[in-house]
Amino acid sequence: MEIANVAEKTLPERRAELAPARHAMERDVKIKVDYDLCQGHGACKGEAPEVFDVDEERMRAIVLQGEPRADLHQKVRAAAKYCPTQAIHLEE
Ligand code: SF4
Repeated sequence: MEIANVAEKTLPERRAELAPARHAMERDVKIKVDYDLCQGHGACKGEAPEVFDVDEERMRAIVLQGEPRADLHQKVRAAAKYCPTQAIHLEE
């Protein structure tokens, strides 16, 4: 990459170029829910509805994506952080 080319590009162009590289560097995340702790509050669904649902009858979380896409990792981390019983464990 030439320095002159970089200087000619706009910031959005540079961000668009770097975005795929950032995703490639993201580590995989595997979700485990401790069902002895889960009480079906649904905070996880509120934070990451693409990844979690709640079984209303059994009062427990349903993991829709055990290994979510990189663009969902931030939401999944928020779900783990705000789970009131700390039932969500992430393997990264
Ligand atoms: S927020 Fe935690 S306790 Fe509530 S349903 Fe999700 S995993 Fe279970």
